[in-house]
Amino acid sequence: MSKPKILILGGGYGGIMSAVRLQKELGSDEAEVTIVNKHNYHYQTTWLHENAAGTLHHDKTRIMIDNIIDMNKVNFVQDTVVEIKKDEKRVILENQELTYDYLVIALGSDPETFGIQGLKENAFSIRSINSVRKIREHIDYSFARYNNEGHKDELITIVVGGAGFTGIEFVGELADRVPELCREYDIPREKVRIVNIEAAPTVLPGFDEELVEYAINNLERRGIEFLVNTPIKECNTDGVVLANGEEIKANTIVWTGGVRGNHLVEEAGFETMRGRVKVDKDLRMPGFDYIFVAGDCALIIDEEANRPYPPTAQIAIQQAYTIGRNIKALMNGGKLEEFKPDIKGTVASLGKGEAIGKVGNKKLFGATASAMKKVIDNRYLFLLGGVPMVIKKGKLKLF
Ligand SMILES: Cc1cc2nc3c(=O)[nH]c(=O)nc-3n(C[C@H](O)[C@H](O)[C@H](O)COP(=O)(O)OP(=O)(O)OC[C@H]3O[C@@H](n4cnc5c(N)ncnc54)[C@H](O)[C@@H]3O)c2cc1C
Repeated sequence: MSKPKILILGGGYGGIMSAVRLQKELGSDEAEVTIVNKHNYHYQTTWLHENAAGTLHHDKTRIMIDNIIDMNKVNFVQDTVVEIKKDEKRVILENQELTYDYLVIALGSDPETFGIQGLKENAFSIRSINSVRKIREHIDYSFARYNNEGHKDELITIVVGGAGFTGIEFVGELADRVPELCREYDIPREKVRIVNIEAAPTVLPGFDEELVEYAINNLERRGIEFLVNTPIKECNTDGVVLANGEEIKANTIVWTGGVRGNHLVEEAGFETMRGRVKVDKDLRMPGFDYIFVAGDCALIIDEEANRPYPPTAQIAIQQAYTIGRNIKALMNGGKLEEFKPDIKGTVASLGKGEAIGKVGNKKLFGATASAMKKVIDNRYLFLLGGVPMVIKKGKLKLF
């Protein structure tokens, strides 16, 4: 009898960890496990803002997939998913087709532009190694042009749309990087503008007020301008137009204002909310007993707060553990477990040696929060590949 086929789409947190867990949960004669990913590497999405600002090289952020999974136990296919044929148990890739008995969808997210005119065409977004390399190069080149092209202010104006987690972490890195760029390209620091624009009444909506105040004071002191309560109406080749009619000319616009589930999920005909599937408690797709969804493609409800959990790496990783066990249970006729996120805390970096966060009920600021962030990052690497992975890719200098 042929072995059941388990197909995992996406090699981010949810996908690669599902592969690692299935590799551990199942013997190689029990199932044929295949993971498909666009690239031959896994990247830590949570570090991409550092690569985009140029404060961390992208090679630190990515890990070759054959360094994570045992290629004798799990097949790796480097290809791009084009279509999920849910009723035929088939997935169309750019270069081939694959069939499955069990499917794990972990394709991550797309930027949510909220219909803002010109945003998709004219703004960068922080979403992959390719996209952040482009942002870093673009900022560098804009600074290089400044003294050659008539000292145009817009060349050294950076607009960051969205002051949620990603936006704040990115401007924190820019606050570190810009002084270096100014030295390199002979530009007075005070000429450079980094403007973080947020439609909500505060930055980091939903975060503890005291922590938010710390973040704002810290970042303003390091030269970040905040415009809150200020929706962006339009984004064009010259900059952004705000809802109040004001225009900010900027050669670099980076949108961090929100994400939605990968478009392929919606296009497959699954019911979604902002591209995310409201999964059953055992992380299965409603109506499809053999399809699981992990990470940013999955929507789960925080019943205490009566709203969806924000999509995070923390949740994607935990879901992979449940999916590993549930696929095994499904294959063996066992009972499937419910997924319950165990939110250990949230820490947002503000740049080198600076962060804010809450772990349990404890608020953390500055260097302590920053060290905690690195512990969290290193813990993930440990789960992925043990001590050798931490030594190879970890952030070992905590302070
Ligand atoms: C700058 C930034 C900072 C963040 N910081 C934090 C943090 O501190 N803590 C936290 O918990 N969360 C954080 N997040 C959120 C977190 O990164 C996401 O929630 C997490 O990456 C979701 O995991 P995922 O597996 O769903 O998707 P991803 O990790 O994005 O992985 C998706 C994978 O699918 C692949 N893929 C996509 N489309 C295709 C296709 N068509 N074919 C083949 N492969 C495809 C991609 O290449 C990628 O490898 C941050 C996000 C950003 C952008």
